[in-house]
Parts: sequence; C-alpha cells; structure tokens
Amino acid sequence: MNTKLKEHAIPLQQSQEPLLKVQNLKKYYPIKKGIISRTVGHVKAVDGLNLDIYPGETVGLVGESGCGKSTTGRAIIHLDPPTAGKVIFKGKDLSTLTGPELRKTRTDLQIIFQDPYSSLNPRKRIGDLLAEPLIHHKLASGDEVHRKVDEMLEIVGLTKFHRNRYPHEFSGGQRQRVGIARALILNPQLIVCDEPVSALDVSIQAQVLNLLKDLQKEFKLTYLFIAHGLGAVKYISDRIAVMYLGKIVELAKTEDMFKNAKHPYSQVLLNAYPIPNPHKRNRDRLVIEGDVPSPANPPKGCSFHTRCPFAQKICSEQTPELAGEDHLAACHFPLS
Ligand code: SF4
Repeated sequence: MNTKLKEHAIPLQQSQEPLLKVQNLKKYYPIKKGIISRTVGHVKAVDGLNLDIYPGETVGLVGESGCGKSTTGRAIIHLDPPTAGKVIFKGKDLSTLTGPELRKTRTDLQIIFQDPYSSLNPRKRIGDLLAEPLIHHKLASGDEVHRKVDEMLEIVGLTKFHRNRYPHEFSGGQRQRVGIARALILNPQLIVCDEPVSALDVSIQAQVLNLLKDLQKEFKLTYLFIAHGLGAVKYISDRIAVMYLGKIVELAKTEDMFKNAKHPYSQVLLNAYPIPNPHKRNRDRLVIEGDVPSPANPPKGCSFHTRCPFAQKICSEQTPELAGEDHLAACHFPLS
C-alpha cells in the first residue's frame, strides 16, 4: 500500500463530506414469461445498498461472481440507472440533474471496464477513440484535441506514436492503459474500476495497479475498485466492502478487514486468499457448503443463513443491519 496515499485518505474520511453517497440502491431486472412477456418476478441484483465514498480514497468492492458488484458500479454512475434509491454526488442527487449540470457530472464519473478489447471499437484508431469523449463533451477542439490525446497517451505510459494504431495491435496491458486513458481524459473525480486487472496476466496486473495508484495521487482521484479476488483489492484499497447477494455485509479499513473480519462470509473469502508465510497458515479454516441462492428468490432474514455454519433461528427470521462505527458488519453473531 502506498503509505503516503493511505495517510492522506484516512483523515479525509473523518473530516470531509463524502464525495459520493449511495442510499438504499436497488437494481432489479424483471423476469418475463409467456407470449405476452408477463413479469413473473425480479432478479434482485442490488438490493438496498448503502455506501459513502470519501474524496481521495479507494473503496474495494469484493464478492463472488453474480453478487451484484459490477451492477452496483454501473448503477452508481447511472450507466444502467438504478430501480430505486439515491446516488448523491457532491451533494446532488444524480436522478434530479438535467442539462449542463448532468453533462458536467457525466464527465466527473467514469468507468474502466474489465475487458478493454470489447470496450474499444475495433474499427477506430486509438487517437480517435480518445478524442471522441473530448469532442462529444465539447472540452476541446482542433489541435487542442490532438495535444490532449498525445498528453494522455504519455500519462498512461504509451506514446503519441500509438495514436494511429488500432486496438488489435495492442497487448492486453496496453489496451487496458488505453481504457484508463479514455476514462481519464475527461478529468473525472470518481472512477469505477470494474475488475480492471482480472483479464490480465499476473505480471501485467501489478503494472496496471501501480499506474492506477500513481494516477490517483497525481490527479486526486477517488476509486470504487471492483474485484472478485482479494489480492488486488488489498494492494490498492483504503477500505473494503464485502458484498453478498446484492447487499454489503461488511465494510472496514483494509487492515481491519484482513486482521479481524467479523462477518462469516468475509472470513470465507479471506480463507481463500493465499498466505505467503507458511508459519501463519495454520489458522482455522471456515468452510461453507452449497451454492449461492438465486437473487430472484433470496432467503429471508440474513441472506447468508442457508450456508452459514453459525446460523441460528433468528438468522432466518430477521435481516441483520449493517452496524458498527468504523468497522461495520451485518451479522447477528459477528466473529470476534
Ligand atoms: Fe451467519 Fe446469522 Fe451472521 Fe447471517 S446473521 S452471517 S446466518 S451468524
């Protein structure tokens, strides 16, 4: 972890207003059946998610595939607008913005996708792909567009000579650098990084993570960093939020999460994280069985109770609140 950044981020959390407030966010997808496509239910991909993100910090959002973390990221920036709930950015509810205010906010909130290849139009040159958002948002014209594109290519570790190449001429790591440049060229404040290193070779992952950390420092960026593996999240995040079936079940500073996870599901994820020191490997392993329940029909009470080894009667009856001060967990019997 970059200690300078970490020291910078934690006091900000205590003294500043959140840059982004997510309140009771829901994203439901209808399940249609029959000739007239009648709605027979909903897949509750995100189901009542609350999260504050402070300026300059990185919040890691982790969980198994299908837990709703990518949907959360897309709903937050209104790429896929939420079904219900509020996203408040710099004190303003995104759903109420219109006209120039909405356009400005769109530039402030950007996303880096997991698969840079499918997010870049293969028929366009990199220079054109980077110029597009500048021209669309009327942030530059004429020679200034070329100047900004060249500058951005150098910032992400490419050169102006890459401007005339097509996406297929780049390696995976280079393409992700282009994806980062495309997000950064609009000078955003918050970037949703949606599994940006999952599709890359391990050796390239470290380079991209270091680039993201350097850019955060240089441009005072705030990240929501989505991943299913804890390695990258531990390296880059100030705080970690663990998601299960559309809800955050635990939220804590990275160090606290790794030393003292309170929710049984977080502990299961941590158990899957490899420990390099063989002398520390003899910790108690928490094992769970069964599959993740369907988000179309999530269990009542604590949604983890069907798999939790500590479940008691109350767990299937009452939904635990995400409670605590600095370290929050949604569990009737948090681990000590
Ligand atoms: Fe397990 Fe009960 Fe805690 Fe849910 S509330 S995680 S079922 S102990």
